[in-house]
Amino acid sequence: MLRLTVPTIEEDDQAAVREVLASGYLVQGPKVKAFEDAVAKYVGAKHAVAVSNCTAALHLALLALEVGPGDLVVVTSYSWVSSANAIELCGAQPVFTDIDPTTCNMDPDSLSKVMTRLRSTAETRTKVKAILPVHAFGQVADMRRIMEIANEHAVPVVEDAACALGASLSGKNAGTWGAMGCFSFHPRKAITTGEGGIVTTESDELAWQLKALRNHGQDPYLPTPEFVMPGYNYRLTELQGALGLSQMGKVDRIIAARRAAAQIYDKLFSRGALSPLAVSEGSEPVYQSYVALLSGDSRAARDGLIKRLREQGIEVNIGTWHLPMTSYYRKKYGYEPGDFPGTDTVFESALSLPLFEGLTAGSQNEVYTKISSALGELAASSS
Ligand SMILES: *Cc1c(COP(=O)(O)O)cnc(C)c1O
Repeated sequence: MLRLTVPTIEEDDQAAVREVLASGYLVQGPKVKAFEDAVAKYVGAKHAVAVSNCTAALHLALLALEVGPGDLVVVTSYSWVSSANAIELCGAQPVFTDIDPTTCNMDPDSLSKVMTRLRSTAETRTKVKAILPVHAFGQVADMRRIMEIANEHAVPVVEDAACALGASLSGKNAGTWGAMGCFSFHPRKAITTGEGGIVTTESDELAWQLKALRNHGQDPYLPTPEFVMPGYNYRLTELQGALGLSQMGKVDRIIAARRAAAQIYDKLFSRGALSPLAVSEGSEPVYQSYVALLSGDSRAARDGLIKRLREQGIEVNIGTWHLPMTSYYRKKYGYEPGDFPGTDTVFESALSLPLFEGLTAGSQNEVYTKISSALGELAASSS
């Protein structure tokens, strides 16, 4: 099976983990600290606070901003479920914006409308506590406009940068635009710690909150334990810290390989069949996934196409999720098809293709050929 993704785990990564195992010191310690320092430096942020995964990162970022019951957080509608779940886990309500269907990122016009609406009624005016854009598939959202709108309303921004380590827009890195940036090291991302996450921030105060919240509410800087709030155990292990540090040593190489492979797909699919996502001017995506959209005619065949390709040994998948139309959010808040037209279209037509460092041009060619012929066959059998 040609897998959707295969993490790059090499001998030095394994040696780093073995060394920790042999040391007997397994919980958050010097390896996690070194990993945090490496990520902070790479992203260009003052602080990086490691946590057990990016869902925990998003949860703590919102708690650090004191998001709580009755509050509202504005979030993009097309993402992994964590982006909305983190809000709901704080007892707050996600308010969705539509996406730009050419990039899959938060549509600033939609954000502007949502903010104006929420800020114009007495009931919701003071309730909007954060804006949560997602850097979809590793391309930075339109942060220039999103920050403008956020600043206009004086609402802090948390970036869901789960897929975007190393991505930038206008030379500014993912994770440095908002008050905090949240990254994931799940095996579907470019580098991995098995499970893992990090929050980046410039703020000493937010970093203090995050460090206390991830470790049982213990003051992170006092020499003797002092428990100053009810916290979580969202710590990363030393095994993961060591793996992350080792992975950071190869992050640029891995991203370069992913970008090169994405270019090959771009070229192959420029002959039709699928349209690659648009890359905005000044944007340097890292291609956490290579996602392309099926054209109107072949959209109906998408699920059949995924099944057929898997039978032929090629793992392809949908892009990501239409959050307002997932059961929980649809039922709780009464969303309907048509509420987010850009997301409706993309959710039906997106296809994510195999992409990882070791992917060969030959395999990419095979993906292209098999998709093209499967689309032809599916069109013939439906007409
Ligand atoms: C992967 C992902 C997450 C969750 O990350 P975990 O580390 O698996 O918790 C959140 N948001 C987005 C956009 C993601 O792609």
